[in-house]
Amino acid sequence: MQTIDKFNFSGHKAFVRVDFNVPLDENFNITDDTRIRAAMPTLKKILSDGGSLIIGSHLGRPKGIDDKYSLKHILSHISELLGKNIAFANDCLGKEAVEKSAALKAGEALLLENLRFYAAEEGKPRGLKEDAADEEKAIAKKTEKANQKEMAKQLASYATVYVNDAFGTAHRAHASTAIIADYFDNDHKLFGYLMQNEIDAVEKVLKDTARPFTAIMGGSKVSSKIDIIENLLTKVDNLIIAGGMTYTFTKALGGKIGNSICENDKLDLALSLIQKAKDNKVNLVLAIDAKAADRFSNDAKTQFVSVDAIPDGWEGLDIGPETEKKFATVIENSKTILWNGPTGVFEFENFTGGSKAVGQAIVKATEKGAFSLVGGGDSVACVNKFGIANKMSYVSTGGGALLEFIEGKELPGIKAIRG
Ligand code: AMP
Repeated sequence: MQTIDKFNFSGHKAFVRVDFNVPLDENFNITDDTRIRAAMPTLKKILSDGGSLIIGSHLGRPKGIDDKYSLKHILSHISELLGKNIAFANDCLGKEAVEKSAALKAGEALLLENLRFYAAEEGKPRGLKEDAADEEKAIAKKTEKANQKEMAKQLASYATVYVNDAFGTAHRAHASTAIIADYFDNDHKLFGYLMQNEIDAVEKVLKDTARPFTAIMGGSKVSSKIDIIENLLTKVDNLIIAGGMTYTFTKALGGKIGNSICENDKLDLALSLIQKAKDNKVNLVLAIDAKAADRFSNDAKTQFVSVDAIPDGWEGLDIGPETEKKFATVIENSKTILWNGPTGVFEFENFTGGSKAVGQAIVKATEKGAFSLVGGGDSVACVNKFGIANKMSYVSTGGGALLEFIEGKELPGIKAIRG
């Protein structure tokens, strides 16, 4: 398999799939450009080798061609970060894209319009009525799959080498993230730096694991984390359960949880996960106390109580000090750490304490040589909010993609390149 650091792009036209799906305000200003910055090393390497760049991305969830989701809104910012004027093709498949990509010279860059303006990118029919006949649905699906191949083939025809640097969409088998790779031989398809770093970080955690390995799973619901927890129970030494899902476990064990968030239909599941942890000799670490609030508000009255004795009318919105200590001891003695999900409602300033304590314990462990990976939405927001992102070994840019990777699923964007 080719790797980006060894590949010389001189004389090549590279189609680079990036994930520039950045948040925009109502005036189309980018409110967080992390994803654009993350792809810069790959884009810069290609240009500095003397290659030319064809950049493809999606933005938002357009239902068709829609100015609101045009990549022209972010063109100047990308040019600024790249330190180079980038040409723009107002379509990714039309005449303009074909001509402008054909005319690209060494060292030049072209940004294509939003790939998701076409349903073929996702390979799923759009606008099909719910009550359409099964036969009509089947034909529409087949047509869109065929369109997807055509789209991938056309995008591939613009370039001599394919680079995938869009980890955020690696869990999707889309025209530009996976199918396109079929049109390049093994020596002319490769991961960009970002994608490679993400893969290396997850594989260091899940395959090349230094022990003890501790995973901290927070967030609101067990139901959204079942597959990850089940996979981790075959890999970790310690599994810390935090956040809202604490109370489903506590209630399943017979505790009193007041108004705390709970999935009553997942009590048996919680018990079976506890059993599975025992069977696999995994140390399942549950909270012992909670910071309870008399309502779901930052200004609520609060008290620290035992996690299984939350008074009626009160709800646990964060872990308490005893739990902070318990979690910190486990974390600080770990050599590999995975953190997904806050320990409480970290959006409320008064309930950030537990997440901060977990973050600080990870910083300490990392300083002692542990490898720490933070990823999957809100825990990334936490480390950014607490100013400790640069003290983690790796902070993932992938949400759904990272979670599916940790669940043990094969990601189409990865498989397309390394088989
Ligand atoms: P997730 O997307 O599953 O990682 O969940 C993140 C969300 O979980 C955040 O918005 C938190 O506010 C929420 N959360 C964490 N702990 C609690 C809790 N004890 N009660 C209610 N929501 C919580």
